[in-house]
Amino acid sequence: MAQKRITIAIDGHSSTGKSTMAKALARRIGYAYVDTGAMYRAVTLFALRNKLIKGEQVDEKALREHLKRGDIAITFRPTKEGKSVTVLNGRNVERYIRSMRVSNVVSIIAAIGFVRKAMVKQQQAMGKDKGVVMDGRDIGTVVFPDAEMKVFATASAEVRAKRRYDELRAKGDTTTTLEEVLENVTERDRIDSTRKESPLRQADDAIVLDNSHMTLDEQNEWLYQLYLSRVRS
Ligand code: C5P
Repeated sequence: MAQKRITIAIDGHSSTGKSTMAKALARRIGYAYVDTGAMYRAVTLFALRNKLIKGEQVDEKALREHLKRGDIAITFRPTKEGKSVTVLNGRNVERYIRSMRVSNVVSIIAAIGFVRKAMVKQQQAMGKDKGVVMDGRDIGTVVFPDAEMKVFATASAEVRAKRRYDELRAKGDTTTTLEEVLENVTERDRIDSTRKESPLRQADDAIVLDNSHMTLDEQNEWLYQLYLSRVRS
């Protein structure tokens, strides 16, 4: 019997490994994967490159115009190695959107109502046929409130900062300190949870996954078992 296709929403705090686990699950069950954080990061990169952010001030009027005119086209492109990269206006921007320069201001851009509206619309279109694993902050609460499977990922701030720090190091960033990463992670959580527009919060029907002390394998298996329970019920 063919398994029923569902919508899987993985939300949670910054640097909890949401995208790693969402990607692994999507690959295992043959679903599409959408990294919604990458979309907010791409808008942020566009704004930085066009000098629309000065300190913490955003030229919202200009940004709104660009979005309206369709100047900010975000897509995902599969690579030969079976990965997916974020594409902004035809260019692979994967490397740039993960930099601290973007991480430091992305939550400010993501708090803007019209930016969220534009991204949510695209995300809903990408997931309209189900069979999708989407990770972000508001997937289970706003984008797909009817998702059959909702996970809320969390871990201690120290564990999350250390993981992100190791990731940056592995990518060749030797200047950012662990303290800076910890500050960025906690500051993004603060802005994400207290913003007016779709704040980060656990959906009532989401299952909490605290992976502070879990290995990747344990976490992947946990997720897969939850998926099986949802498609069998
Ligand atoms: O998931 P990631 O850490 O890459 O997301 C970057 C930022 O984008 C988050 O800190 C948050 O401010 C914003 N975001 C959001 N809503 C989503 C996904 C990400 O506000 N669905």
